[in-house]
Amino acid sequence: MKKIIAVDGPAGAGKSTVSKKAAEKLGYTYIDTGAMYRAVGLKILESGKPLTENFLAEVTEKIQIELDESARVFVDGEEVTKKIRTPEVSKLASDVSKFPFVRKKLTELQRKMAERGQVIMDGRDIGTQVLPNADLKIFLTASLEERAKRRFEELKTKGQQLDLSEIEKEIFLRDKQDMERETAPLKQADDAILLDTTNLKIEEVLNKILELAK
Ligand code: C5P
Repeated sequence: MKKIIAVDGPAGAGKSTVSKKAAEKLGYTYIDTGAMYRAVGLKILESGKPLTENFLAEVTEKIQIELDESARVFVDGEEVTKKIRTPEVSKLASDVSKFPFVRKKLTELQRKMAERGQVIMDGRDIGTQVLPNADLKIFLTASLEERAKRRFEELKTKGQQLDLSEIEKEIFLRDKQDMERETAPLKQADDAILLDTTNLKIEEVLNKILELAK
């Protein structure tokens, strides 16, 4: 069995859904690194202050981020699992993720979390930067249209009614920003396996990952 699995890819490709399910099946720990960037974004949002480098440095230094066994997210002791899932926080997460000092702190935290092994970690730079020696690297993608549709459905089940074209625009711009940043951009690792899930059901993607994890 592969001990450390890295799953990267653009927004809305289904990384967290399948990684969580695969972790359950394998008895591994699921680590959602996007939630950590979201936590920093939320802290900025809740401060009501504009995003300046100095203020972000202060926030980054002080922030305490914890993920529990059920992938619940805590910031400075407060549970923020639901609060970090808004479009505003998505945008801010991408904005703060450009800063090398934010990436440094979170990357160190992520590596520490993976030390015990038997983990599935998802994000944008796991296979390229955080865990370059991962036993299995998967780059999960799907067409922009399909990813927007999935996000739309997901938000609908959570009671949030958003415009599909707005979601598509938000995802497109966030991916562009994530791919174009200088530090640890969103990119497929040379040794990652590309999985295009546009025409696959969740169960099919899950089975492929479980097969690859053997
Ligand atoms: O995966 P999720 O959509 O929750 O990630 C939110 C944002 O956090 C991404 O758009 C990206 O800017 C940033 N991120 C990152 N590196 C990671 C995970 C997420 O830069 N490993």
